[in-house]
Amino acid sequence: MKKQYLLAPGPTPVPPEVLLAMSAPMIHHRSPDFIPVIQKVRTGLKWLFQTSQEVLTVAGSGTAGMEASISNFMSPGDKIIAVNGGKFGERWLKIAKAFGVNAIEVPVTWGDSVDVAKVEDLLKKDPSIKGVYVQASETSTGVWHDIKSLAQITSRLSGTILVVDAITALGVVDIPMDAWGIDVLITGSQKALMLPPGLAFIAVSEKAWTLNQSAKCARFYLDLKREKDNILKDSNAWTPAVSLWIGLGKALEMMQKEGLENIFARHRMLAQATREGIKGFGLSIFARQSPSDALTAVVAPEGFDGELIYKNLRNQYGITAAGGQDQLKGKVFRISHMGYADVFDIITAISGVEMVLAR
Ligand code: PLP
Repeated sequence: MKKQYLLAPGPTPVPPEVLLAMSAPMIHHRSPDFIPVIQKVRTGLKWLFQTSQEVLTVAGSGTAGMEASISNFMSPGDKIIAVNGGKFGERWLKIAKAFGVNAIEVPVTWGDSVDVAKVEDLLKKDPSIKGVYVQASETSTGVWHDIKSLAQITSRLSGTILVVDAITALGVVDIPMDAWGIDVLITGSQKALMLPPGLAFIAVSEKAWTLNQSAKCARFYLDLKREKDNILKDSNAWTPAVSLWIGLGKALEMMQKEGLENIFARHRMLAQATREGIKGFGLSIFARQSPSDALTAVVAPEGFDGELIYKNLRNQYGITAAGGQDQLKGKVFRISHMGYADVFDIITAISGVEMVLAR
């Protein structure tokens, strides 16, 4: 027998209460049975996103949310800024290209946080830029970008929206959408929301809805206006992922019971414990600035292949962490402390790394 421990930055472990809720018999999504589920989810998501706007839920992975955030607010030829500090920043450029949107890249050295002044300069020089697209937590490097400062800049501009991929940040750290003036805030089910993969969530400000009226990029399934019109009537545009919605209701209930401040404090503590534990072995953290509280990217020590550390953790101890992506393959391994995580997960991770390195 080998016990399995899931410590990868998504999918993350799902609490038994949520698994149990999702095993309930199927119900019809256009029957009165589903209305309480929708109402619970609507209220819970607004609480989690800290917004008075509707949070739209689509069946798809996080990338569906990223794609919708370009196709619903831009027209071919429009200019946006894409902050690219890792694998997920790079994705903005790829999606923009697919829709004929002109992305101005703000390259950020992997491991660094974006220089907000560079974004501000570009916006000053070119008032026709319609959006700033950025990750809150870049999962490939384990770095935060300074969303609050970016929001202070874009809030002053009537024609420029701030789009934040908070896929490994929402439910980890405080990102109050309305208070900061974020225009489009995205997350996915399989991270801090403690659910299986399969749902993307997108909240949209009034400013972004105004842009939506003239946005001409092609869209059909991911038409957010259609989703909004439906959710306002406690309905869905298409067949929703019924079981995931039921699980989501349970996960939100658990999060509400814990409270936002406690959730953020728990993540802060687990992240700090992981970083200190890792540094205790003389290893270093890949993030040079603003390490994310969602996950820690650890630099593989001299003479060790990061992929091998990842493989040995799995094969010898049943611990699934994650390796490095693209240019970081073999150079780092990543440990998640996001979602349904507590001190024993961190003890497991740190002890596992210690045993693997000692062997
Ligand atoms: N953005 C970030 C920051 C992520 O961490 C991920 C997934 O790990 C994605 C986007 C893409 O999400 P998905 O793989 O669910 O499409």
